[in-house]
Amino acid sequence: MEVSKLLRSLPELHAHIGSSIAPHVYWHIANSEGYKLPKRDYHEFVKHIVLSPDRKMSLKEYLDTIYHPILDKLSTGAVALEKGVYETFSGAYRSNHITLYELRGNPMKHNREGEVDLDHAIMAMLRGMERALLEYPKLRAGIIFCLDRQFTFKQNEVIVNKAIKYRSRGIIGIDFSNYNKTGFHFKDYIDLVAKARSAGLKVTAHSGETDDTNDLWECLETINPDRIGHGIKAAYDKDLMHELSKRNIVLEVCPLSNLMTKAAKDDQEMNFILNTLFDNGVHFSLNTDWPETIKDGHLWEQYQYVIERNMLSSTQIEQLINWGYDASFIPIKTGESNLYL
Ligand SMILES: [Zn+2]
Repeated sequence: MEVSKLLRSLPELHAHIGSSIAPHVYWHIANSEGYKLPKRDYHEFVKHIVLSPDRKMSLKEYLDTIYHPILDKLSTGAVALEKGVYETFSGAYRSNHITLYELRGNPMKHNREGEVDLDHAIMAMLRGMERALLEYPKLRAGIIFCLDRQFTFKQNEVIVNKAIKYRSRGIIGIDFSNYNKTGFHFKDYIDLVAKARSAGLKVTAHSGETDDTNDLWECLETINPDRIGHGIKAAYDKDLMHELSKRNIVLEVCPLSNLMTKAAKDDQEMNFILNTLFDNGVHFSLNTDWPETIKDGHLWEQYQYVIERNMLSSTQIEQLINWGYDASFIPIKTGESNLYL
C-alpha cells in the first residue's frame, strides 16, 4: 500500500500522560489554577518543556527537571487530569490519525502526593477518556497504570490493586517506568504481576532504553512481559533478540524520544537498531513516548522520520502498523462499541 495511505490510521501503544498533553492545554490549566510557571510567556514556556534536535537532554535530566516537577504537577488533581486526558485522546484522533490509543500514567504522580484522593484522580482520567470515546466512536482507547521503579513495593502494590479495581472501566495493563535509583528488582514483583495477570491485565515494562541488556534479561526471566517499552538495546544482543522473537514479545520503539534523550546517538544508530530488530524477527511498533514534548514528535511524524530517511520500506512500515494493532492490550475490537460498559 502507498505509504501516505498507511499513515491514515495508526496505533499508539506507548505515550505518557504528562508528555501527551499539548502545551496550550497546560497553559490553559496553569492559568485557570493560577500556577506560577517557570516562564511567563507562552512561547518561552513551550521552548522550556519541548525537546528538539537543538535541545537534547538525557532521560534522567529531563525526568528530574521537566517531566516530574513541571508536567506531572500541572496534570495533577481531578479537574486538570480529566481535561488533560480528554484533550489528549480527542486531539490524537482529530489531528494525528490515531485510531487506537493506549495512554499510560502513574495515578500517584497526579494526586499531589496524597492531597487528592487516588480514586478521584483515577475516575478523572476515566471520565476524560470516556468523553473522548463518546465523541469519537471510531477511536479505541485504554489506560495503562505505571508502577515506579523508585517507589516502594507497597506503593506499587496499591497501584496494581487500583488497576484491578478499575479494569472493567478501561484500565488495560500495568507498566514499570522511571529509572532505577536503589534496590529495584523485577524478581520482587513476580507474585504481584501474576495477580494483575489473573485479573485480566496485560504487562509491559520500560527496559533496555539506556542501560545494557542485563535489565532486559532480568525482566524476561522474572515477569515475562507481553511487551517491552523501548528495548532498543536488544539490537546488540543476538540471544536476547532470539528470545524476544520466540516469546513473541513486542517492543514499543519510540525513535525520536530515544534520539532526544541520547539513548540512540544519531540517525545511523536508529537505522541500525530498526533493521537489526527486523532482520532478527523481533516484532515492534513505532510510538511517541512524549508526543507533545518533542518537536515534530507526533506519531505520524515519527513514521515520516523513518520513511524520509529510507530506514524501512513501505512493506515493513505496513508490518509495524499491523504488529502495533495486534499487540494492543485494548480488549475492544474494531466495529464494536468503543465504551467500557
Ligand atoms: Zn516511556
